[in-house]
Amino acid sequence: MLGGWIVRLLIAVLIIRLLWSFFHGIFSGATEPRRKTSGKADRSLPLARDPVCGTFVQQSRALEARSGGQVHYFCSEKCRRTFMESS
Ligand SMILES: [Zn+2]
Repeated sequence: MLGGWIVRLLIAVLIIRLLWSFFHGIFSGATEPRRKTSGKADRSLPLARDPVCGTFVQQSRALEARSGGQVHYFCSEKCRRTFMESS
């Protein structure tokens, strides 16, 4: 049964090569977008959701409004005013 062993060996090599390319694809796919965004430092900025229009805004750039001990962030003065009038 020497032929059977060769077939098994070939299948094992094929599986290992498939797994290797599969994991290699995952790792290269996971590291590439990180390299692209690391220069901008955008992911360290906390995002807040405007409760009026639903837009996500950077907390450092957004307009703030405090109500009931909570801080709300808004994309524009118009949204902030709408929120203050409704609450
Ligand atoms: Zn808004």
